[in-house]
Amino acid sequence: MWYSDKAPTIERKYSKSILRYFKVGSHIGMTINPYQGCHHRCGYCYATYKWSPDFYDKIYGKINAPEILESELNKWKNISMLPVMISSATDAYQYAEAKFGITKKCIQVLQQFQIPFYVFTKSCLIERDLNLFRNYNTNCFVVWSITTIDEKVKRIIEPGTPPTSRVFETISKFLDSGIKCCVNIDPIIPFVTDSEEHILSVVDLCHQFGIRYISGSILRLRRDIWIRIREILELLGISCSIEEYEKIFGFREPLMNDNNLSASTAYSDNVFNFLKYELSRKNIEFGFDKLIKCISNLKSEYAISTKQYRISEFI
Ligand code: SF4
Repeated sequence: MWYSDKAPTIERKYSKSILRYFKVGSHIGMTINPYQGCHHRCGYCYATYKWSPDFYDKIYGKINAPEILESELNKWKNISMLPVMISSATDAYQYAEAKFGITKKCIQVLQQFQIPFYVFTKSCLIERDLNLFRNYNTNCFVVWSITTIDEKVKRIIEPGTPPTSRVFETISKFLDSGIKCCVNIDPIIPFVTDSEEHILSVVDLCHQFGIRYISGSILRLRRDIWIRIREILELLGISCSIEEYEKIFGFREPLMNDNNLSASTAYSDNVFNFLKYELSRKNIEFGFDKLIKCISNLKSEYAISTKQYRISEFI
């Protein structure tokens, strides 16, 4: 269940493998997901598939992940590797990490093997591991997912996340420690967080804190996500925008599509033109490709290579 006041249950599980390839659009890479499920309860979450109906209510910690990771890296020692993304389908620093510490142990293993990595998070718990990042700051970076600085909207669209002001306190500590940081405005949600004022408020705050990289993406829709987005529109009192959604995403109610629908080019161009214009005015780079290249180049023995694998096998 998406919108609930009940805390999720936290359980242990054992995994057979941990390091996997992923593909998002044209971006390919490697990822580890130390947890299954996520207590941040973002209504727009893409990681909630029909085969994980308890995604928000039952969090599994993959308790043997560090040992599995170590044995996989031992086997792949002589194979060039992509930088590892932590994580593609959960927040590795959600509350369960305070209990299990699996992410911390996985990062220690990656560091032991000198593997470059980057973390996506909405959580402040990552502060606990600040030293780990500081001592490895030429080989890692952090991407902070921030959709809005409007707390009223945030409590509705991602009720389990910390307040944005608190997240920026954490970002500030990372920047002061010389750790490369990017803010990912993702997703930009039509009629909820897509106004120029809304986008500008996030960009301005990032600029104020000295963020030099900002990426962004527009919401994609599929059947289960649309059910939750419709609920969000109702909670915000803007269900009148449902017809506009049909136009932007090119569907007719009820949306039955299990694959992601992208927003129209006209809509996307409008949003990205504005975002990129504001970024260029503030000398902020769009995207974090440069950061990936930067940490990849440092370890030539682990240069980017996907040739050894047929990517489709891992997706
Ligand atoms: S933090 Fe990420 S994985 Fe967790 S609920 Fe939000 S979008 Fe999904």
